[in-house]
Amino acid sequence: MITHVKRAFKYRFYPTDAQAAELSRTFGCVRKVYNMALTVRTEAWTLRQEHVGYNATSAMLTAWKKTEELAYLNEVSSVPLQQALRHLQTAFTNFFAKRARYPRFKAKKKSRKSAEYTTSAFRFRDGKLTLAKMTQPLDIVWSRPLPEGAKPSTVTVSQDAAGRWFVSLLCQDPGVKPLLANGNAIGVDAGLEHLLTLSTGEKIANPRHERRDRARLARAARELSRKAKGDGSKAKGDGSNRAKARRKVARIHARIADRRRDALHKLTTRLVRENQVVVIEDLTVRNLLKNGHLARAISDAAWSQFRNMVEYKAQWYGREVIVVDRWFPSSKLCSVCGTLADKMPLNVRTWTCECGTTHDRDVNAAKNILAAGLAVSACGAGVRPQRSSPDGAVGAEAGSPTARAVGIPLVYEGEEVNVDAPPPSRRHEPG
Ligand SMILES: [Zn+2]
Repeated sequence: MITHVKRAFKYRFYPTDAQAAELSRTFGCVRKVYNMALTVRTEAWTLRQEHVGYNATSAMLTAWKKTEELAYLNEVSSVPLQQALRHLQTAFTNFFAKRARYPRFKAKKKSRKSAEYTTSAFRFRDGKLTLAKMTQPLDIVWSRPLPEGAKPSTVTVSQDAAGRWFVSLLCQDPGVKPLLANGNAIGVDAGLEHLLTLSTGEKIANPRHERRDRARLARAARELSRKAKGDGSKAKGDGSNRAKARRKVARIHARIADRRRDALHKLTTRLVRENQVVVIEDLTVRNLLKNGHLARAISDAAWSQFRNMVEYKAQWYGREVIVVDRWFPSSKLCSVCGTLADKMPLNVRTWTCECGTTHDRDVNAAKNILAAGLAVSACGAGVRPQRSSPDGAVGAEAGSPTARAVGIPLVYEGEEVNVDAPPPSRRHEPG
């Protein structure tokens, strides 16, 4: 059996002035429609306990376009506007399933600028991509090839805070097939000093230059906050210095994120290929992010990205990810004799158990995570196992790990570049 997966292939592109203007207008309309629909749905619910679904908002969009003040919505392709309403529907579904917070308004400066086009709104021919309302194809930098014969089903255009333009093409990837099962298992501990520590004792360092970039980021952020506080910025029309400072922060952020994503892709592909079972800890990122430290925030973002990648790659290749409850005392437990230490402050990097074993804090934690995960895997229950799927749904049923990952059509929303070298199994005939 073949796993049918959809993968997003993301590339930079350079729009013409007219294309940039068209896309900026589209982003604005997407935001407007999303926010209006959110207002309507929120009011209907809070005032009248009425549920307004996607179809109702879609009908409203048609009506809005007929009014004089919203007639400008007709100037852009209607597809991204419809997609915005679908995304809002998904956000509500996730909220009602307790997987996400209540949907928030898209702010002009802070929200991600993006527009999604489905097949009726773009043309992909001879390697050229032309969007609705445009005459010229996009000038895409094909930094890596699309799979042979791939036909994108969805195209997402976005612009990051540093002003760079990206296009992401969602395609069926026939190259992804489950790997042959092996008996290896590994535990992974998330850390601050190192990005990750493995139960084998291997420590994965933070990406190169990250320390220096973080220092730069901190400096730029301080600069920006000084500019923001500076009086008279209103009089000077939001001061171009401030905008410049904001762009600088965004650029450094983007650089850190790019390097980290590359490093995580290499790492997660390797872990999933080498191991049948990957055990991780359920760190609830939303809670951790409240901690204001910059280093912490970035590490936490890396962790959720890592988890996401490991989970979908495990699905692709027929591997299993086991998530161990976050209250499991992985740092305080001796992995050799099982003695539980009283406390383990964060600054303790090595400790000696009363059994005489000296532990590296993180390696010991990774070993404990692995053992807890394998216990769960063996008896099918235990430390509240969460075998999670990428959309956040939790399916606790045990079953053949390889069989579970097969034949599931997967779409990963908001997926970033995830193109790696072709898996070894590509050499096998489809069976
Ligand atoms: Zn011990």
